[in-house]
Amino acid sequence: MTAKKADTTTIELEGTLVPLDVQINGRARNISLRVDERTGGIELVLPRFVAKAEGLAFVHEKSRWIMHQVRDRPPNVPFAHGAVIPLLGIDHEIVHQEGARGTVWVDRAGATLNVAGQAPHVSRRVADWLKGQARQEISARAQTYAAAVERRIRKIQIRDTRSRWGSCSEDARLSFSWRLMLAPENVMTYVVAHEVAHLVELNHSKRFWQVVDGLCPGCEPAKYWLKRHGASLHRFG
Ligand SMILES: [Zn+2]
Repeated sequence: MTAKKADTTTIELEGTLVPLDVQINGRARNISLRVDERTGGIELVLPRFVAKAEGLAFVHEKSRWIMHQVRDRPPNVPFAHGAVIPLLGIDHEIVHQEGARGTVWVDRAGATLNVAGQAPHVSRRVADWLKGQARQEISARAQTYAAAVERRIRKIQIRDTRSRWGSCSEDARLSFSWRLMLAPENVMTYVVAHEVAHLVELNHSKRFWQVVDGLCPGCEPAKYWLKRHGASLHRFG
């Protein structure tokens, strides 16, 4: 991220108060704005030479388009009985099985994610289960890919990051968002391949992309999916 500073406020558009996050970005060439799918707020990015007033005028100019996005965005999905969440991209309904033994289990045939225990714990149990699954699925892929490029992973962390799906440090520590468990499988695979490729090339050079391609041929659609739909993964839980 290259944002220099963020300033959060609200703006009234068509009679509705909408959260507004203003960022000054020295590398931006144009004013840009997007609607955050999770919060329904606006993210406005201003190049350094553009005054905030000019940015706000731009927001007002686009108010119809913005309010369209705000109202049409898909609703948030809590981890609760009856909610449908995508497990590696495949929809599963959360079914609370009160009195059942065990904690959380998947019924693939019925496409359900079953949760035992008491109702107030369903949400936390689903979240914990997803994090555990993410760790297993991601670690298995990461170890396979690391072996393929003959590198060692020092540590794999699973987190809930807002802006990055994965990262790789200079000392070979990989970090991933557990929300990849809700993305299509090829998207998880691509993100893991991407971060493992950084064990070879800690940059985004041509050589880096060759390594990614070697690990995960045909990953372009996954990259595109993330750009297009990645933000929607923050609607869950
Ligand atoms: Zn990268």
